[in-house]
This record gives sequence, C-alpha cells and structure tokens, in this order.
Amino acid sequence: MKTILIVEDELNIAELERDYLEIEGFAVEIESNGDKALIKCQNNNYDLIVLDLMLPGLDGFEICRRLRKTGTVPIIMISAKTEDMDKIRGLGLGADDYMVKPFSPLEMVARVKAHIARHERLLGFRPDSGDEIEIKGLMINKTSRRVMLNGKEIPFSSKEFDLLVFLALNPNRVLSKEQIYVNIWGEEAFGDLTTVAVHIRKIREKIELDPSHPQYLETVWGAGYRFTAG
Ligand code: CA
Repeated sequence: MKTILIVEDELNIAELERDYLEIEGFAVEIESNGDKALIKCQNNNYDLIVLDLMLPGLDGFEICRRLRKTGTVPIIMISAKTEDMDKIRGLGLGADDYMVKPFSPLEMVARVKAHIARHERLLGFRPDSGDEIEIKGLMINKTSRRVMLNGKEIPFSSKEFDLLVFLALNPNRVLSKEQIYVNIWGEEAFGDLTTVAVHIRKIREKIELDPSHPQYLETVWGAGYRFTAG
C-alpha cells in the first residue's frame, strides 16, 4: 500500500485530502507542524508528500529544500497564493508539482497517482515483475534469492541478501544504520550497528567495480546508506 504524508496546518483541508486519498486506497498520515513533518519524512519512506507552504515551525520551502538533499520522494506543494507558485519555481526547490488553494480534491488525487507512477518509472520499477528487481545491470530475484551482476551469478549470504533487497526496494532513499539494523536483524537482536557497516562492505566487494567509489551502495555521511538507482 502506498503511504502519503499530508503536511497541512488547516485540519479541515488535511482531512478532506485524506478522505479522498483513502477512498483511492492510499494510506495517509497528517502532520500540521513543519519541524515534526521533516522528522517524519526522514524516518519514514513515504511514497509522496503533499506539502503546504505556510506552516507552524519550518515552512514548506525549507522542508522541500532539505528533503531534496537526500532523496527523490515526489512532493506536491500547496499554497493559498498564486504568486507563491512563481516563487517555488524560481527557487528551484525541486518540487514535482504545485497546486493553489482552493483546488479540486479529485484533481489532487489524479496528480498524486500520476506522480507516484512517474517516480516508479524513473526508478526503473516494473510493478508487475514482482519477484525481480533489476537496476543498472544488477538483477535480484527475491524468490530464488539469487543475485546476478551483468549476467554472472554472485554468491550472497542470507543476511547480505536481505540487506541488499531492503536497500534496493528503497532506491535513492537514505536509510540509517538503525533502520537497516531493525529491519534485517530485528528489534530484539543485541548486535551493534557496526554489523551493518560490515555487511555493507561485504556487499560492495561483491557488486561494486570499485568498492571505494560505489555506484550502487553509497554512504551518506552522518545519515546512513543509499541505494543509487540512477
Ligand atoms: Ca498553512
């Protein structure tokens, strides 16, 4: 299920947007405060963000700017003023779309769907292929648990494979060591986070041409790792 974050301090508008999106089968979260919204975005992998411009705390401009430093999640910016749209474009913040209040909720839903589909195409997802992920010559088959690089099979341990799949299913998003650890080793495991770095290193040695200049598994200093899908 696709999850959308609505960042909006006018609750009646947020709830209207949510209702229309939920009818279309989306999971929806609402956040009214800008600072909290940024934290939520950093800690969750939303499929799209509907971002109001004027908010308590950080404004929509700043949230958009910061999110674009670390990822490509589609962002639809919302404003009450037409002139803000020119400003958004002029600043080159990297928002994917803009809408001026009041807008038709049906039109918003249509744009949400279009941007999610476009983003998936950009990332090279083939939604129908289910068990296979193919990115830049790397083929991961989730059913047979095999990894092929440019047609040659590469042996992977079980945890290495799980880690590679987890990263590849979240392309172009920064995942913290904590997020990775919890997802691969489970919350109750008593390991330490260096386990993550060790496994990343092993995977790089297997799939990267030059492990010190990775083209798949990038290190984002102070934040975590990112699977680059081009
Ligand atoms: Ca507002």
